[in-house]
Amino acid sequence: MIRDKGPAGRWIHEKLLPMQQASQRKLHDLTYLFFELTQRCNLSCRHCGSDCTSSHDMPDLSHESVLKVLEGIRRRHDPSRITVALTGGEPLVYPDFFKLGRAITDLGFPWGMVTNGWGWTPEKVEEARRAGMCTITVSLDGPPEIHDWLRGRKGSYERAAQTLRMLAAAPWIQTLDVVTCVHRKNLDQLDETRDLLAEMGVKRWRLFTISPIGRAASDPDLILDKKSFQQLMTWTAHRRGTPGPAITYSESGYLGSCDTTVRDHPFFCRAGVNVAGIMADGAILACPNIDRSFSQGNIIDDDFCEVWEKGYQCFRNRKWLREGECADCKKWDVCQGNSFHLIDPETKHTRICYFKEFELNKQPSLDI
Ligand code: SF4
Ligand code: SF4
Repeated sequence: MIRDKGPAGRWIHEKLLPMQQASQRKLHDLTYLFFELTQRCNLSCRHCGSDCTSSHDMPDLSHESVLKVLEGIRRRHDPSRITVALTGGEPLVYPDFFKLGRAITDLGFPWGMVTNGWGWTPEKVEEARRAGMCTITVSLDGPPEIHDWLRGRKGSYERAAQTLRMLAAAPWIQTLDVVTCVHRKNLDQLDETRDLLAEMGVKRWRLFTISPIGRAASDPDLILDKKSFQQLMTWTAHRRGTPGPAITYSESGYLGSCDTTVRDHPFFCRAGVNVAGIMADGAILACPNIDRSFSQGNIIDDDFCEVWEKGYQCFRNRKWLREGECADCKKWDVCQGNSFHLIDPETKHTRICYFKEFELNKQPSLDI
């Protein structure tokens, strides 16, 4: 079932959205804060090295440094309006993970985590409840063989599936969703994956595609080409709103009019506008997969709140990205140079424009 706003709805959307986004850039209300607690992991995903540039020998972020940042934020902001997202690596390998979670809850921040699903037991689920965890995202990348291939460890599908069954049966979790990395090997298995998730009790499902960054850029199995990306858009548009887990495509890039059919929310890269992140080495950034050269400081030397107020200018005023093919693009107002995680710091330009390169507006099967 295609849910499309139609030409009039899309016109309003493209006229009003830039105004709304401009006001949010001006306000830059912090609503989402990542902490990359560790770069260590118990799996060895094929696409992970593409986003990690630092050595996995890097020390973890300490409990003290996380809490110091949050205490500083609490003095100036209402903590109940800022979601703390604990990521890695794999957060469960981080020492006393739930003790940190409890301390974050006690400071008044809602918190959630992203996990690969390995290492969960009923006792860990109970620890998560006691620590006040609100949201959790589990990665699952298709049927068993394909998931294990991508995650680099046999049995990782079974572990993730067991974890999902346990979490889906926990009524206190406010939001549980699954994120699937779509690539060429699982593209034709999306219906099968959806049936598996429904059987596990999953209600929300986010799809994303791997960015052409680092070694993933040259792996033909991982990166979707034009035809396969169009196939994904068509599949998503037709499956949204049908029985089974609610499907949405992630914020991986501006998609033109597909935006209104494959996503819950229109494209708006909130990095540095509403989203900040602290990396394992203390670097102050936004989303974890943004190039580290865009760091705005380091919590070792800088006060995070000062940086949030006065820094992040290259995220909030994106005129510097208006060059190359973006310079005279008719979609500049709604796109503003694409997702920040796709920006190449050397060329100062998006690594890929899905909208233009994949000709999403010319896709007959979507009829949009
Ligand atoms: S950088 Fe990417 S992941 Fe982060 S807000 Fe922008 S689009 Fe979303
Ligand atoms: S050319 Fe630039 S501004 Fe236009 S849609 Fe592509 S990334 Fe966005």
